[in-house]
Amino acid sequence: MARYILAADFGATNLRAAVVDPAGQVGGRRQAETPADAGADTIREHVIALLSRVAADSPEPPEAACIASAGLIDAIEGRVILSPNAPGFRNLSLTGPVSKVLGIPCYIENDASAAALGEHRFGAGRGFQHIVHVTVGTGIGGGLVLNGKLYRGSRGLAGEIGHMILDPGGPPCNCGSRGCLEAMASGTAFAERARRLIASGRSPVLAEIVGDAEPSGEFLFQSAQRGDTLAEAEIRNAGHNLGLGIGSLINVLNPQAITISGGLMVLGDMYFQPMREAISSLAYGPAAGVEIRFSELGQDAGILGAAAVGLEYLEATDP
Ligand SMILES: [Zn+2]
Repeated sequence: MARYILAADFGATNLRAAVVDPAGQVGGRRQAETPADAGADTIREHVIALLSRVAADSPEPPEAACIASAGLIDAIEGRVILSPNAPGFRNLSLTGPVSKVLGIPCYIENDASAAALGEHRFGAGRGFQHIVHVTVGTGIGGGLVLNGKLYRGSRGLAGEIGHMILDPGGPPCNCGSRGCLEAMASGTAFAERARRLIASGRSPVLAEIVGDAEPSGEFLFQSAQRGDTLAEAEIRNAGHNLGLGIGSLINVLNPQAITISGGLMVLGDMYFQPMREAISSLAYGPAAGVEIRFSELGQDAGILGAAAVGLEYLEATDP
């Protein structure tokens, strides 16, 4: 009999949930806005209501629920410790209350770690035992699948690859350090670079595209596509930085594949060619032969990540 997982993807903007079978078939999708500014009690009620509706629609009763959430996650206590973009997520206990209402075990995992396991089971990382998954978007996150299992570290916080230091004198990062990979290669970094370019007066195309809006990476890309060589150089340099970070991880972990997901995939070769070149330039032994694969899971990546984590827990308790 197929075992169904009630899977949820819990972001600062949206709550998504669905039922997933072991083959990765997703059904009964439902979505709601995250009441990110509300208190913990309200957020918890929203999550339970959404999950209850999805569970009621499931073709078979789900055996477990699993939530992939943004932020620092305490998987043992089943709570979100904090999430930078949603104040209401602070010390948000979830798995206990969900489990109590639904009558099945409930697990929680950081969304980037869940994404890594989702790619390993259902996506670009299938067939590999060792992958480093990198999410490139507003921030940079990651997850490690080693020996076919999600690697969590001693306190479940492993995989924060966005906060590896590339340049101690570099730009400030949201985490309080300077020159983190995230501060030098993410969407947030692009917004800062766009701001600087406009202030310098050297990029009239970018200034025109941005107008009165807030500078962002999207505008930087549009400007580069219109032939703005300075904007293009910023994107290439960020891609190079990404490659330095990933190349270093390859030297440490000797993975078979790097899998990549996230909003910055739209930047294509302008961002990823310099990344590949930087990885090659660091080609100490382990880098040779590492495959670079892009996610094709799209909107379902978060849901499938949560499902993969739930399935891993269930399989670990199988007799
Ligand atoms: Zn940082």
